Amino acid sequence: MSNRFEDKVVLITGAGSGLGQASAIQVTKEGAKLSLVDLNSDSLEETKKLILKTVPEAEVLLITADVSKEDEVKNYVNKTVETYSRIDGFFNNAGIEGKQNLTEEYGTDEFHKVVGINLNGVFYGMKYVLEVMKKQGSGSIVNTASVGGIRGIGNQSGYAASKHGVVGLTRNSGIEYGQFGISIKAIAPGAIMTPMVEGSLKQIDPENWEEVGKQFVQPNPMKRFGKPEEVGYLVAFLLSDQASYINAAVIPIDGGQSYKY
Ligand code: NAD
Repeated sequence: MSNRFEDKVVLITGAGSGLGQASAIQVTKEGAKLSLVDLNSDSLEETKKLILKTVPEAEVLLITADVSKEDEVKNYVNKTVETYSRIDGFFNNAGIEGKQNLTEEYGTDEFHKVVGINLNGVFYGMKYVLEVMKKQGSGSIVNTASVGGIRGIGNQSGYAASKHGVVGLTRNSGIEYGQFGISIKAIAPGAIMTPMVEGSLKQIDPENWEEVGKQFVQPNPMKRFGKPEEVGYLVAFLLSDQASYINAAVIPIDGGQSYKY
């Protein structure tokens, strides 16, 4: 097994589930010390349990925080630096899908909620982590956008706006911080089978969501959902020194679906 993260500190938000959890497991297998953030403390404990099962000697700091609140973001960054003195990799990933509706029925509160977590949360994270990385003169940030951040999907005003915003932040800050030895990337996952996607299918049909899922993946060139581990491999690569010249880029991981006409 490669040890790309030996002596490296990786900070991950939304680490209690799905893509954050899978990426946490992957980077710890490769030697990382972890700082894991989530709104849900029970799910953080669950991720820690899974990590210790694979890597019993792993160092794992758990921080319960809401990424849409700037003071809580400042606090999770401070706690990470107090514990480990540095941050080498930051997977800025926490997000929600929000309700599905036509734009006129979307709901102003829902719009603000989704943007507050998915976009403001990513901005706050970058703001405080970049300060640390700039002092170090090194670091890699991976922001979680979505295919909904590079294409229109429909019925997802808040999600689309927030994820397109994440792409914009990534491009803008990547161009600013390359000169400081820092690279900033975004991933644009398609449908990866996590609790978020399960919830989304259940919004369409709570009884027959598995059948809905089968229909949903038919237009995908690979005819299946992605797996969280597949995203974990990509995130680990992008956070590692091997990806240090990939900057301000948005990388789809969607079985090729976003390239299809
Ligand atoms: P998930 O629901 O399985 O995990 C998301 C985690 O984020 C949960 O543990 C949740 O508690 C946490 N979270 C939610 N709101 C938070 C907040 N305010 N503060 C801190 N933590 C919070 O979802 P996932 O599929 O792993 O999604 C992770 C990211 O990937 C999200 O940004 C999502 O938009 C994005 N994404 C997912 C898919 C997919 O198909 N699964 C596709 C594209 C993009």
